[in-house]
Amino acid sequence: MSSSDLTRVGHWVNNKAFPGTSGRAAAVTNPATGAVSREVALAHVADARTVIEAAAAAFPAWRDTSLAKRTAIVFRFRELLNERKDELAAIITSEHGKVLSDALGEVTRGQEVVEFACGIPHLLKGGFSGNASTEVDVFSTRQPLGVVGIIAPFNFPAMVPMWFFPIAIASGNTVVLKPSEKAPSAALWLAELWAEAGLPAGVFNVLQGDKAAVDELLSHRSVKGVSFVGSTPIAEYVYATGTAHGKRVQALGGAKNHAVILPDADLDLAADAMVNAGFGSAGERCMAISAVVAVGGVADELIAKISERAKKIRTGDGTRGCDMGPLVTAAHRDKVASYVDKAEQEGATLVLDGREVEADGGKDGFWLGPTIIDNVTTEMSCYRDEIFGPVLSVLRVESYEDALELINSNPYGNGTAIFTNDGGAARRFHNEVEVGMVGINVPIPVPMAYYSFGGWKNSLFGDTHAHGTEGVHFFTRGKVVTTRWQDPSHGGLNLGFPQTTA
Ligand code: NAD
Repeated sequence: MSSSDLTRVGHWVNNKAFPGTSGRAAAVTNPATGAVSREVALAHVADARTVIEAAAAAFPAWRDTSLAKRTAIVFRFRELLNERKDELAAIITSEHGKVLSDALGEVTRGQEVVEFACGIPHLLKGGFSGNASTEVDVFSTRQPLGVVGIIAPFNFPAMVPMWFFPIAIASGNTVVLKPSEKAPSAALWLAELWAEAGLPAGVFNVLQGDKAAVDELLSHRSVKGVSFVGSTPIAEYVYATGTAHGKRVQALGGAKNHAVILPDADLDLAADAMVNAGFGSAGERCMAISAVVAVGGVADELIAKISERAKKIRTGDGTRGCDMGPLVTAAHRDKVASYVDKAEQEGATLVLDGREVEADGGKDGFWLGPTIIDNVTTEMSCYRDEIFGPVLSVLRVESYEDALELINSNPYGNGTAIFTNDGGAARRFHNEVEVGMVGINVPIPVPMAYYSFGGWKNSLFGDTHAHGTEGVHFFTRGKVVTTRWQDPSHGGLNLGFPQTTA
């Protein structure tokens, strides 16, 4: 197929498709076939300005739209999404590769944030102090920032943007979403749904692109806040550049998530959990478990159980009812496989090798089967780096203290889990571990929408986590108003500092 035959995924501005003027584009592949299925427009600065300026123009009217009307539109969006989420899941699978049931799960977790945002009037309520001074009343209110940018990774093309935009929009901001160029279509589907739900033009916009689009979002004077999710080096860059331009930035980065298996754990339960958390979505989740920390001699039995289960996983096309899909691109598959090569060279033990998997899918699909590596040490590259693929590394340690030291020494701090039947050990762990999200006998502890999502250390740059009340605070600014409505007889000059004793 020549590039002129391909559908080009463009931008979305003022509730209409906008092809852009840059002439630049990138190929989008179907990971299960390896074929180029579409191409995506890559904005240049002029395209980015067109989209950002439309969002800026829409802001004053949207900010002043009543809470009742804003909430009604968010509620309508929720209803449409709930009715039609299968369509969105199919788009995700076609560009990311994850199996359909997993894509549907992603949409459902995003929908939870939409539901949370339907309660925004309650979340934006301020305080009021009547007669703080004689006939002086004081109240607090939270106001939207203005235009906010959302920059998303490839691995959750719907859920990650939905961590942010329902709250941003419900709070009265206007949004420019920059999706990953590897999975650009879900954003356009969501944009059309917003228009159908009655969202005014310019409130939700999509800007397709790469670094050029990101840099304009980070520097344009109308953009007041940026929520970024992606790898740690880019998160650091986004945080440093955005804050240097005076913007409020939350930048969620990469991860290396450990699961500690204590000797008293139910090893069948733990093995199920390790397989689900290590190989679900082919390991392309920021909350995937990639390091299994086997404590005090459980390793041999645990690895046997994990391996027995992992061998039953059917790797293949996500539309065919398989358990695990392909990796997102050929380059990423090769990079993940190279970590397996290096682990062997560095002296680790390969228990299960996914490089030769026979997949139920296209011969050119980006396949890599479940892989288990034992006797991994902290110096090996498969432990040091975030691999972001279906590779479980097993580290053997003697004690709980060794496991804790291992995790707290790691530069990442996104998610972690402990498997045990000892309540005291579990309590000690969640108190002592330096990680933002902790599971106790729960392998992927992604918080519900009304709590906040975010890691510590190199997994998040900024002060606020995503969604929950921290999300509401990120997308709003506090203001306190002091009022007096007196008759004119109370006039007169007084240069003293205001005091509340009057
Ligand atoms: P990525 O960092 O390559 O890309 C993320 C976004 O940044 C994309 O929109 C991309 O277009 C943009 N980008 C890429 N290079 C850029 C550059 N040089 N300058 C400016 N912008 C640039 O990440 P990815 O590969 O799409 O996603 C996987 C990563 O995201 C993993 O590291 C994963 O752990 C992380 N992630 C983290 C979380 C979290 O909550 N902490 C959630 C999902 C994914």
